[in-house]
Amino acid sequence: MYRPPAEPGMPIDEIDTPALILDLDAFEANLDHMASAAKAAGVRVRPHAKTHKSPVVAHLQMARGAVGQCVQKVAEAEILAWGGVPDILVSNEVVSPAKLARLAALARIARVALCADHALGVDAIEAAAQDAGVRLPVLVEIDVGAARCGLVPGPEVLALARRIASSRHLSFGGLQAYQGRAQHQRTLDERTASIASAAEMTGRMVEDLRTIGLDCPIVGGAGTGTFALEAATGVFNELQVGSYVFMDADYGRNHPAPPFRQSLFVLSTVMSTPNAEVAVVDAGLKALAVDSGLPLVWQREGVTYAGASDEHGKLTLAPGSSPLKLDERVMLVPGHCDPTVDRYDWYVGVRNGRVECLWPISARGAMN
Ligand code: PLP
Ligand code: MN
Repeated sequence: MYRPPAEPGMPIDEIDTPALILDLDAFEANLDHMASAAKAAGVRVRPHAKTHKSPVVAHLQMARGAVGQCVQKVAEAEILAWGGVPDILVSNEVVSPAKLARLAALARIARVALCADHALGVDAIEAAAQDAGVRLPVLVEIDVGAARCGLVPGPEVLALARRIASSRHLSFGGLQAYQGRAQHQRTLDERTASIASAAEMTGRMVEDLRTIGLDCPIVGGAGTGTFALEAATGVFNELQVGSYVFMDADYGRNHPAPPFRQSLFVLSTVMSTPNAEVAVVDAGLKALAVDSGLPLVWQREGVTYAGASDEHGKLTLAPGSSPLKLDERVMLVPGHCDPTVDRYDWYVGVRNGRVECLWPISARGAMN
């Protein structure tokens, strides 16, 4: 971990760059909005820590009523549990004995659940739980249209749920039903249709499981692009929203955009002004994930982030826009928040133009 780029009390212009900036007012408004929306809909929130990778953010979410956290990786689960998060769902399949042994060990200090979509996976989890002398809740992941992991809803789901329920060291934890493809569908009509279909499949599975005597403690899914739709179905009882805390340029392209403020930025510095139409900043591919599109330039009329190389970001200036000066700071809105966060060791929390806090991104790079 490299030294932090700022100190509490510093004015924003003195922050070393590139730096990951968190607008604390916007961030807190996002936390509050999700907490009240979920409360009004009568569903639990279990935010996804793959976005923030930080026990600090996790605790702020839980202080507003979140029931725990989701993670994708065993290493993320470890960082959160060691950081005091008491209830963690690995919203993902874990099948290797060494990883399962780590998760089972973690179950001694936190409630740890995980997903399965194969009988061999269930047997591997049972073996790890038995070795560690713990009991693990296991959810069956179903494919509700994302075409990633998960069983196609149907008899195989019932068989796997039965296998879990009859394993001595496991309990049936419910259904994992995340419709990832729907999150960034651009129109509300498309998203509504996708979640209606996901909810129909999921609701039918919940009913079928009930008829064989299995209740679903968790019926989990949803992301920032669709959470209000899942919340309104009456089928889902947990929302696994991640990006809502920060937002990004790609979510900003949804119609309508999710009801959250942009709170995450990359602060960059102009390091070259080769001509009147171009300025180059010190934040390129290594400072910003561009898989969902290039970053946007924040509140600079006529200035476009036009290209990224490893350590350079090329800005173009439309005719008539005010020129950028050497050493000037430029705030950028990342195209995709999750992998951008993973490039930094520290959140630099700012309020009223000054640095208020530095939070370590403790699970940065925790991918095993
Ligand atoms: N749940 C799962 C399983 C995911 O993979 C993701 C993101 O990809 C999310 C929830 C959260 O999505 P978002 O960050 O769009 O809110
Ligand atoms: Mn994402």
